[in-house]
Amino acid sequence: VTDNSQRIAVVADHFQGRLRPATFDAIACALKLSGLVDLPVRIVTLGEDAGTIGRDLAELSGLPVTAIEIPEAASYCGEVYKTVLSEVVSHMNAAYVCIPATTQGSDYAPALAVRVDAACVSGVESVSWRQGRVCFAVSLYAGKIVQEVVTETDCTVLTVLPGSFGHPDFSHAGPGTVEVISKDCKPQQTRSMGLQAPADLDSALSEAAVIVSAGRGLGKRENLDLIRRLAAIFPKAAVGGSRPVCDAGWLEYKQQVGITGATVSPEVYVACGISGAHQHISGMREARFIIAVNTDPNAAIFNTADICVNEDLTKFIPALIDEWEKSNREKS
Ligand SMILES: Cc1cc2nc3c(=O)[nH]c(=O)nc-3n(C[C@H](O)[C@H](O)[C@H](O)COP(=O)(O)OP(=O)(O)OC[C@H]3O[C@@H](n4cnc5c(N)ncnc54)[C@H](O)[C@@H]3O)c2cc1C
Repeated sequence: VTDNSQRIAVVADHFQGRLRPATFDAIACALKLSGLVDLPVRIVTLGEDAGTIGRDLAELSGLPVTAIEIPEAASYCGEVYKTVLSEVVSHMNAAYVCIPATTQGSDYAPALAVRVDAACVSGVESVSWRQGRVCFAVSLYAGKIVQEVVTETDCTVLTVLPGSFGHPDFSHAGPGTVEVISKDCKPQQTRSMGLQAPADLDSALSEAAVIVSAGRGLGKRENLDLIRRLAAIFPKAAVGGSRPVCDAGWLEYKQQVGITGATVSPEVYVACGISGAHQHISGMREARFIIAVNTDPNAAIFNTADICVNEDLTKFIPALIDEWEKSNREKS
């Protein structure tokens, strides 16, 4: 970057040489912003493999890329990202920094904002132009309320919700330029102790025609029996769950559906006691038909569901199974 004009920066999210899809939402958000404020977009990649990832991204997107190769950053370190990006953001004179709202992005974005004296808006789902200003929309209370935020600072750091902006249109003339920089940055306060790969995702989830998923509304582990009994009435069915259910150890992580779990697209998805947080919806919104069972009539999952059952799952599921068994008996 040689001139001092303002820009919109996008920080790519990649792991073990592979770009995370959430990067595309962040690019799409930046392009939308660019249309509103008429500033150019530049992508930033960081880490050991930043050059390779950066060249691929420039080729694909047609956008200019700054690739910062950091030999010490073989694995993610929030402190390194914060330190290096604070220099990059100042050098680029970035008015907006769009960061994917992944686990990594959510980790370093607020620290970066503090370092560069920027406002930080987390989990941005849309951007609009309101009374001569850029307005960011974020969901609160598991998607029940949408808050609109404007910022007062020269620089704004955003984390962009995966699945909110979609894949940008890259039908452009030619590949973008790549600037590769090498940088030393040793973390002073933290040290990565290595990475642990998660267990493979449950292949049963990707192959299932019907997924019955349990959320925190299940109440207790013993109620999983209801979910399993409901799944058992369908051929080619599997049991999935939201993150709290996996965190509680009621289901295995390979059964988790959502941005940090599996992305599924079954014929039917039955969400039982799941509120409908974006992180969960991102993983199941491609299901053909969605049924949600929830005691809260205002649960956000009802905005996505084709059938909304406003009932207590501990009463509804046994009643449904009883009806099923009764109709089966009548047929035979
Ligand atoms: C970086 C990041 C990544 C994440 N990744 C994921 C992910 O991959 N997958 C994921 O699922 N989450 C993920 N989360 C967590 C996510 O934000 C939500 O916290 C989570 O999805 C909420 O799970 P839930 O709907 O089961 O629980 P809650 O939000 O607590 O909802 C429970 C629901 O059950 C209903 N309920 C209560 N009792 C009953 C009853 N008896 N019968 C019927 N309904 C009842 C309630 O009305 C409520 O709507 C992530 C979060 C972060 C920050």
